[in-house]
Amino acid sequence: MIRLSPPTAARRRSLWLSAVAGLLTATAAHAADYPPVTDARLIQAARDDGWLMYRRDYASTGYAPFDEIDTGNVGQLKLAYELESGLDVGHESPPVVNGDYLYVTTPRSRVIALQASTGKPLWTYEHDLSDTGLKTVCCDVVNRGVALYEDKVYMATLNNDVVALDAVSGKPVWKKKLEKPDVGYAMTLAPLVVKGKVIVGVSGGEYGARGYVAAFDARTGKPLWKRHTVPAPNEPGGDTWPKGAYKNGGGAAWLTGSYDPDTDTLLWGVGNPGPWLATMRPGDNLYTDSVIAIDPANGKIKWHYQYTPNDTWDYDGTNEPVLTDITRDGKTYKALVSASRNGWFYAIDRSNGQLIYAEKFVTATSVKGFENGKPVTDEAMRPGIGKEVFTCPSFLGGKNWWPISISADTHYAYVPTLHSCMTIKGVPVSYKAGLPYLGAQFKVMRDPAYQDQWGSVQAIDINTGKQVWTFPSALPWNSGMLSTAGGLVFSGSADGYLHAFDAKTGKVLWKSPQTSSGIIGVPSTWRVGGKQYVGIWAGWGGASPIWGGEMAEDKRVRDIPLGGHLYVFSL
Ligand code: CA
Repeated sequence: MIRLSPPTAARRRSLWLSAVAGLLTATAAHAADYPPVTDARLIQAARDDGWLMYRRDYASTGYAPFDEIDTGNVGQLKLAYELESGLDVGHESPPVVNGDYLYVTTPRSRVIALQASTGKPLWTYEHDLSDTGLKTVCCDVVNRGVALYEDKVYMATLNNDVVALDAVSGKPVWKKKLEKPDVGYAMTLAPLVVKGKVIVGVSGGEYGARGYVAAFDARTGKPLWKRHTVPAPNEPGGDTWPKGAYKNGGGAAWLTGSYDPDTDTLLWGVGNPGPWLATMRPGDNLYTDSVIAIDPANGKIKWHYQYTPNDTWDYDGTNEPVLTDITRDGKTYKALVSASRNGWFYAIDRSNGQLIYAEKFVTATSVKGFENGKPVTDEAMRPGIGKEVFTCPSFLGGKNWWPISISADTHYAYVPTLHSCMTIKGVPVSYKAGLPYLGAQFKVMRDPAYQDQWGSVQAIDINTGKQVWTFPSALPWNSGMLSTAGGLVFSGSADGYLHAFDAKTGKVLWKSPQTSSGIIGVPSTWRVGGKQYVGIWAGWGGASPIWGGEMAEDKRVRDIPLGGHLYVFSL
């Protein structure tokens, strides 16, 4: 394999500077060639030539109906263009594309706009982070991308701003600050736009920040509603917390949710309760570790399903709910599926929040089973002060934030998987704004059932929850997934390759030349003038190197080179 463009300092500088210089000429671009992103286009985003939102469509499938690149010709994929960010931390944003305009974010809350067909730099936007010490950003200074609406681009930032930029010029249009920086909150997710509202959620579950989802008028930035994910004592679910605990109860909503236009409902994942140590907060602790169904008009919660009651293992329920129909025992359900951090793959009736099935997709010992549709946790696996346990999966989860994809053709979910367990024990903790609020000591360790294998890609039949094929990986598999009508599944690996799998069999049909770093980003695909492109960031970072214990200490992981580099491929 030839290594892709070994970066030199001079070359890195020239690429970054040329992107910055693009800002000066951006006004020369003509707004007339920017197709406005209307509500109708967002509803039909699955069929658009572009890639209009984080997971392509409101159902969060990460599936594109493009078949120019297919199982027969994927071996001929070539590099179309590339861009270096100049940043040596985690790069997680998918390229979001509208017409011939591509938007991708970098760490430290920056946006880069390029011509989608050529990679020509258009403009860059660098958010002012001078007011933040970034001390309540748990897991690297990442960003997961933009949302588009009408003629604007939206980003949520590490210092808790939501910003709207002019899509053609990159000029700021409005900015709203949700919270002061460094007191617990940060923002890393890609916003979601629904019916003229920009919807965002906050990070901060490791700092006792009380989570929420909030909506803003996309045109003006006017705040419309804010829904706490941890209810106050007088609200439904408030009685699942001990007195006063809700104030620092966590429940961060740090990943992008989905939207069901048929029932006009947002489906949003909610993170872990605070502190981690559950003996400090007896009760189910709603709506932590849950998926909540929200009315986008006013933020009201319609129903919820809790993946891990009274969580004490940091099993955030934030992983994306993917909306899909499933058929089981002769019955068809309008469902959502989610590969939960706790190691179970859930299918839930999205009309009422009832469990359809749950199946383990990794070793899972903390949640041991189900009674009347409710998860049952194993008392023996609960840590306490002076009580250390060994349980699976680790707090990094059977899957972390890296999104799955569901193919409309195979009806399989493609799941980036981590095989790890942990030791964890309780330690005394008290809340202090701006400091971690965990009450636990822990270490990520190997899953004894998977020697020399930290990861895998799994295909799961979503009608049954059973694995169809698996691709084992010595290193953790922590890139997002993309499936296409060309019969392909794309995903990047920690050792720096973009892979194309046969969606039916899992056979590797193509592997890119080795990129400049490990890949933890989210691939996307788009068409300009009928030509199909596939793009992804390389750029190792995120939670694994910081929190990964034995996994982070693995020499092959320690040796992963750093550096952000966007690669775009075509035939
Ligand atoms: Ca967490």
